[in-house]
Amino acid sequence: MDGLSVVIVGILGLIVGSFLNVVVYRVPRGESVVSPPSTCPNCGARIAPRDNVPVLSWLVLRGRCRNCQESISARYPVVEAITGLLFAGVALRFRIAVDAPTGILVGSVLVVVLFLFFASVSVALAGIDIDIHRLPNFIVLPSYAVAIVLMVAASIAANDYSLLLPAAIGGAALFAAYLLMALVYPGGMGFGDVKLAGVIGLLLGFMGWGELIVGAFSAFLLGGLFGIALLVSRRANRRSGIPFGPWMLAGAWVGIFFGDRVWNGYLGLFGLA
Ligand SMILES: [Zn+2]
Repeated sequence: MDGLSVVIVGILGLIVGSFLNVVVYRVPRGESVVSPPSTCPNCGARIAPRDNVPVLSWLVLRGRCRNCQESISARYPVVEAITGLLFAGVALRFRIAVDAPTGILVGSVLVVVLFLFFASVSVALAGIDIDIHRLPNFIVLPSYAVAIVLMVAASIAANDYSLLLPAAIGGAALFAAYLLMALVYPGGMGFGDVKLAGVIGLLLGFMGWGELIVGAFSAFLLGGLFGIALLVSRRANRRSGIPFGPWMLAGAWVGIFFGDRVWNGYLGLFGLA
């Protein structure tokens, strides 16, 4: 996509990120994500639209509620910024084939929608997992349906079904690998991680083998480095339960953005690329 489209999709991401803050805050509390309107968690004052502009309002208000001056967590603008960057990244990574025949064009749009959907799910699940160490079924399970419907629809539109088998293999392989880990080492992986692994495998497999392999291993690399950093800095001990879902998702995005290049570079080392 051209630069303007990337910026527009990034701004859309900021707005979606603002909504995801509400999801992350309310879902663990069993509250509706659509009503009532957002209020300050401290004083209950309703947040006016001018104070609800992603990232900017937080900066203008210097991280404080306009009404009670209580500080507002930096996490809100961070979630918005991450969502904006992921959206812009998807717009950069996946080309919309504007000049192509209609079927190919529609297929490429559906693929962009698929990965924007996955970006939103990633941010919501990572935030909720960090807060309550859960990956709610009612977000993870419908993600299978949405992903499969969009992949099949994109394949039908483009009349190219070659990516569906790798997607199925990726989903089954990651699901099985995490299931094995959860059974062998019940303290480490939860079944929420197993169910999420299937969704991640589907999406990475749909992109290619490089993305699947790099995305899957990056989760352990990033999570492992983080765990070592916590142990060394004595902020955690071996019994601290660190949620793994955010690392699975971060690893998946490393795979989506860089997997192809990393994998081909790796093969190149052995003269295989
Ligand atoms: Zn307040």
